[in-house]
Amino acid sequence: MRVIGITNQKGGVGKTTTAINLGATLAAMEYKVLIIDLDPQGNASTGLGVDSTDRELTTYDLLLEGAALRDVVVPTDVANLAIAPATTDLSSTDVELSSRDNRIFLLKEALHQSDKLYDIVLIDCPPSLSLLTVNALVAADSVLVPLQAEFFALEGLSQLMLTIRDIRETANPSIRIEGVVLTMHDPRNNLSRQVEEDARKTLGQLVFKTRIPRNVRLGEAPSFALPVIAYDPTSKGSHAYIDLAQELIARQTSQKEPV
Ligand code: ADP
Ligand code: MG
Repeated sequence: MRVIGITNQKGGVGKTTTAINLGATLAAMEYKVLIIDLDPQGNASTGLGVDSTDRELTTYDLLLEGAALRDVVVPTDVANLAIAPATTDLSSTDVELSSRDNRIFLLKEALHQSDKLYDIVLIDCPPSLSLLTVNALVAADSVLVPLQAEFFALEGLSQLMLTIRDIRETANPSIRIEGVVLTMHDPRNNLSRQVEEDARKTLGQLVFKTRIPRNVRLGEAPSFALPVIAYDPTSKGSHAYIDLAQELIARQTSQKEPV
């Protein structure tokens, strides 16, 4: 089982879109995939058709109430793809957990129960470096960082890298960077090109060759509760996530990052 945290403390950079579409594409490649929705906004849950009324047990119960993973997970309409849904309940976790000694290990402990059931677990993180994200980083084997081409993108990234270094020095020595994926990329846009050039210069091999283009189909698909490979399989967005999934699988898992 590979546990991959999809993390960037900035909102709107494509974390949830990547969790849903990378998850669905890997599921189509016959991997058994679980998405853990760790964002109180629950966008991954909604985008995969799990209505808020159907979220009986959620990742809140998993982390704070000791619910079993198998009781929280629900199937999706996509074969091989399941999700542990989230609701706004999760937004109070930082406060509620502040006095618990094991508060950064809760997700890791919850995932231990799932051994062998899933090949790949993708954690859709909230847009912050809160306790929820720390739980994801402690539980994860690696981190996948969606990077939107915009002016402060790389500054935000160095803050994230520092957090990952802290986690590596303390609670999760083996965590590595799976890679940085450029999202909402537009090759005609100067800033997009500049951010890509800077990212590749600074991070080298860590940046996935695959870029996710800005594509309206990717934006539309969640409102139909579908991943893009089901909503519009021939779209550029669909092809990009298939490429990303293939690149992810092909990468050397032993690769160590320089930062
Ligand atoms: P995050 O989870 O990081 O906050 P989202 O994945 O929710 O970001 O994306 C933010 C918004 O941008 C959403 O409305 C989403 O549908 C849209 N979006 C994400 N990626 C793309 C893309 N490649 N092309 C077009 N729209 C996108
Ligand atoms: Mg999100």
